[in-house]
Amino acid sequence: MPGLSNSEAAQDGWGRFTADFAYSMFESAKAEQIIVIFSEAEYSASTFAYIVDDSGPRVPRVSDQLQRSKTNRFLPVELAVPYHLNLLIATVKGTEPPPLPDFDPRADEDDYIQANGLDYGDPDGFVFKATAAAAIGLTAWVLLRRNRYAWRNNLTRGPELVRNRRLPQALEAALRELPDPAAPDEEMWALHDRGRRVQTAITEIVATHPDWATDIDFSHRHAILALTETDRWLQKHLQRTPSAKGTKTRDEEPRFCFFFPTHTGAISGFAWRQGTAVLTINVCVDCRADLNAGHESECLMVPKAPGAKRVKAVPYYQRDDAYAVSGFGSFADLEDAIVTKMGSGRE
Ligand SMILES: [Zn+2]
Repeated sequence: MPGLSNSEAAQDGWGRFTADFAYSMFESAKAEQIIVIFSEAEYSASTFAYIVDDSGPRVPRVSDQLQRSKTNRFLPVELAVPYHLNLLIATVKGTEPPPLPDFDPRADEDDYIQANGLDYGDPDGFVFKATAAAAIGLTAWVLLRRNRYAWRNNLTRGPELVRNRRLPQALEAALRELPDPAAPDEEMWALHDRGRRVQTAITEIVATHPDWATDIDFSHRHAILALTETDRWLQKHLQRTPSAKGTKTRDEEPRFCFFFPTHTGAISGFAWRQGTAVLTINVCVDCRADLNAGHESECLMVPKAPGAKRVKAVPYYQRDDAYAVSGFGSFADLEDAIVTKMGSGRE
């Protein structure tokens, strides 16, 4: 960026201009967060480094426009730009800032070039190459992150459930009359009652969302799948005879991963921190590993306002509907939340 002046008034203007420019780059980038660096140099580098997200441009704490070395010397651009890039990455990742470069032109004019592996033999070239080298590491990191979180910008459109999981047939089977318990005790009649509520919940979804199988909102398909699986488990249990009841080979009641109800594998409870609250949710092994590694788990993404002209994708649990209230079984049985929320005609 040519022509940045070091006079105070000009610095002030450039500060405002670069911050605004960084923000408009953020707005057109469609990323959750971007990092931007502006730099110019004649003798020492004047640098503006920003992290931009929804809350606006931020300057990392130890970032100075005129960055100095350990020995308090102004840094040349080929050291300042990689330093600022690494500082931005460290800030975004929440790790320690990088150490200030060793740079003291009094020692030996060329030393820092060799010491920092910048000896390209072409003074203009090495500014560019040093910057590019730092940028390559950065780009790889940004791409990785963008890839990892790409799901967040789009509505969930998979996996296909209607055909692959034979949902219409499962739905029909689930709505058949429930068998009376083979072992008619209190526990079995409680399961029978639950079966009735599952049936009511399925009927409510179909009545409220007749296009559940084709809707761009995949949450209805996930709910139908979860309910029909619960129904199959209930039916099987109702048919257990008194002698079979005591055996150890009981099928586990189906549980569903909070983030994505179709995730498979062992599901277990997880204390999930959300701001100051801790919620206990059911998660699969993969989501547990993601959360423990500090990542966000891929989540069922649904339209923020169903029916609105502009479709904005949000995690299903950010809405205010029965699926969010239940967390697909993490907070309340799905059928109970649906019967309560949809049954009264509100959603
Ligand atoms: Zn999961």
